[in-house]
Amino acid sequence: MKKLVVAICLLTFSFTLAFAQNAKPDSYCGYRGMSDWLIEYQKNPEAYPQRKTGAITYLPMTVHILGDDDGNGYFGQKQVVDALCTLNEDLLPYDIQYYLAGEFNYIDNTEWFIHDFRGGRDMMNANNVDETTNSYFVEDPAGNCGYYTFGPDALAVAKNCAGPEDHTWSHEVGHYLSLPHPFVGWEGTDVDATQPAPTRVGGNNVERVDGSNCRTSGDRFCDTGPDYISNRWSCNQNGVSQEMIDPSGTAFRADGSFIMSYSNDACANRFSDEQAAAMHANINDERPDLIKNPTPPAAIDLAGGGTPISPQNDETIPFGTVEFQWEPIPNATHYLVEISFLSPNNDNIVMSRGLVDEAKYVVDDFDARFVGRPLNWRVRPFNDFEFCAGSTDFYKFSMSNASNVSTISEVEEVSVSPVPAQSGNQLIVGLIANETFEMQASLINLTGQVLRTQNYNMISGSQQVLFDLPIVAEGVYMLSLQNDKGERIVKRVVIN
Ligand SMILES: [Zn+2]
Repeated sequence: MKKLVVAICLLTFSFTLAFAQNAKPDSYCGYRGMSDWLIEYQKNPEAYPQRKTGAITYLPMTVHILGDDDGNGYFGQKQVVDALCTLNEDLLPYDIQYYLAGEFNYIDNTEWFIHDFRGGRDMMNANNVDETTNSYFVEDPAGNCGYYTFGPDALAVAKNCAGPEDHTWSHEVGHYLSLPHPFVGWEGTDVDATQPAPTRVGGNNVERVDGSNCRTSGDRFCDTGPDYISNRWSCNQNGVSQEMIDPSGTAFRADGSFIMSYSNDACANRFSDEQAAAMHANINDERPDLIKNPTPPAAIDLAGGGTPISPQNDETIPFGTVEFQWEPIPNATHYLVEISFLSPNNDNIVMSRGLVDEAKYVVDDFDARFVGRPLNWRVRPFNDFEFCAGSTDFYKFSMSNASNVSTISEVEEVSVSPVPAQSGNQLIVGLIANETFEMQASLINLTGQVLRTQNYNMISGSQQVLFDLPIVAEGVYMLSLQNDKGERIVKRVVIN
C-alpha cells in the first residue's frame, strides 16, 4: 500500500454497531469437490516441485472490501489487519505468507455486498487484479461463511466469519491452493453415525480407518484421516468429533484440527504435511505468476517508537482539533489509530479508528461530550508484510473546556513549527495577514508564567517570523500571539 488508504473517523458512540454482529451463516463453505489439478497431482506428487522447508514463499494478496451502494458496511480496517494476521499465522508453519499487493480496494455495490454465486462471479470478473490472490470481504457470500470459485479464481469471505479467531479465510485460501475438504463427497449429505457408512457417497469412495483406500477415497490424502461431517461441528476436549463407523464397521472420530474440515474455529489450527506439499506444488506448478520473490522489510520494532509526542501522556489539552503525533515506529508504513473514551482494553468500545501512513493523525470533529472525560489512544503499526506487530500501550489525555479556537482580526492563517521544537532553538511562525499589524509573541508555560516575549511588525500577506526559544525543560508550552487590540491566538508548542 503505497499511499494513504483512507482515514475514517467514527466519532459517534458505536455501541450498537459493535454489538449488533449478525450470526454466522449456517453453511460454512460453498466449495465442492476436487480440483482437476489436484487429481493429476495426486497421481504422482513426486513429479511436482517439492516444498523447500525453511524458505518462505511470499504471495501477493489483493483485499477487496465491499460496501452497499452508499458505502456502508465495509469490513473495518482493524478487522482486516487482524484477519491478515490470523491468515499469516495459520500459514507460517508451512512457509507460506501473504503480503498486500496494493491498497485496500473499496467497492460500493449492494448486489455484490450481499450476493448469490452469479453475482459473486460478476464481482470477481469485474475486479480481480491479475497475478495476485483476490479476496472479497462481503456481508453475505451466497449464504456461506466463505467460498472459493474456480471460474474467476477468487474467494469471498463473510465479514462475520473473519474475526481474529476465525479460520475461514485460511480455509478458502486452502481451496484456492487446490485443497478439498477432508470429507469430500459428503458435502450436503448427513452421516448416520449409528450405521457403517456406505462405500461410496457423492460419487466418491468413502475413506476407511485402516488407511487401505486413502489414496482413492475422501480427499486422497493419507494423513488427514476419514471425515464424513459436512456441517459445522464442535470438537471435544481431545479435538475430535462424535463417533462414526467406517464402511468396514470400525468406529472412529474425525480429527478436528484440520483447517480444511468443518470443525469449529476453536478446534481448527493446521494443515497436514501432504496438504502443505500440495499447496506448494500448486503454487509452483499452477500459479507461478504469484511468485515474485519480494524482499520483505525488517521486522516492525514496536519498542523502537510509538511514544506519544502530542498529546503527551496524561496531558489536558483545549477542546478542539487534536493532532495526535507519536515517534515513528521502525519499519512501520501504516498505523491504525484507536481512540477510546472508556476502559481501553475492550475492542468494542474503541470509538474512533483511523488508518494513516505517517506518524500523525488529526481529529477535527471531537464531540463536546468528550470534554472532561478521560480518553485513551494507541497506535498499531503494520506494513505490507507484517500484520501481527501488536499495539502501543494506551496513552491518556483529556480535553478541557477552554477553547483553542481564537482569532486576531488581521490574521487569516497561522502555523507554528517544528513539532516537537528543540529547547534553545527557534520556532517558525508562519502567518498570512490581511493587513499590517504589530504582533507580540509570548512563550507561556502551563502554569501561565510568561517565559519570553518578542515583538514583530507584520506585513500584509504571507510571511514567516522566528521566535527564539529559551532553554526550558521538556514539555508542553503555549505560544500566545497578540495584536494591539488584545486579540489573541494561542498555539500549543511541544519542546524536547
Ligand atoms: Zn471449504
